[in-house]
Amino acid sequence: MNIAIMGAMVEEITPILERVTLKETIEYAKNKYYLASYKQHNLVIAYSKIGKVHSALTASIMLEKFKAEKLLFSGVAGAINEQLHIGDLIIATKLCQHDLDISAFGHPYGYVPESKIYVETSSTLNNIAKKVADKLNINLLEGIIATGDQFINDTQKKQWIKDTFNADAIEMEGASVGFVCDAFGVEFFVLRAISDSADMDAGFDFDKFLETSAQNSADFLIKMLDYIDE
Ligand code: SAH
Repeated sequence: MNIAIMGAMVEEITPILERVTLKETIEYAKNKYYLASYKQHNLVIAYSKIGKVHSALTASIMLEKFKAEKLLFSGVAGAINEQLHIGDLIIATKLCQHDLDISAFGHPYGYVPESKIYVETSSTLNNIAKKVADKLNINLLEGIIATGDQFINDTQKKQWIKDTFNADAIEMEGASVGFVCDAFGVEFFVLRAISDSADMDAGFDFDKFLETSAQNSADFLIKMLDYIDE
């Protein structure tokens, strides 16, 4: 099975690259794609660079050029749900774009005609994650993740995103990757470890916890590969 594993930043995929057998690095469309294997799986691994455009481009390439049959995202996020603390893991049940706004025409926030507000992740992959969490006694929250091209470090903005989308965490790539996978009919999964609380300390916390939280997320994702069938 060809599985795509992606992150947004180099720190998010380095701990994954360290655990797989690297076969080849291919440069394409101003990015690097690492072809690797892990047990029975063929992997294509990349970090997209930050934001919705870069992540949508990378996801599209992983599916179209590298023929990935599933896509797993690993990275960090800001917490909205108060149960989430630095280092905790969340998997997305569905994702939305909090900065997509044509409400001037009477449309709900996050909606454009012929599309939808939320894109749903694979329940099969989410169930595998829950099984792994149970086995390893790891606390794993399931919830809604809101994506936008903004680093949120403002409690008012965070509250608006919570109230408008019922979101549990915020980041900058998950929904764009999700909409790409949904369009191609490819199962996808978004895992994030909390790096900050999207409040006034978020910039400081992010810098302090990026590496350890990215590592938490990557470690969990690697363990999931053992439970994904050929
Ligand atoms: N420090 C980086 C920028 C990080 S942007 C630099 O200078 O290059 C934040 C990244 O982490 C994004 O990829 C996003 O998906 C995630 N993220 C973590 N906390 C976030 C928050 N509070 N708001 C939005 N995205 C967040």
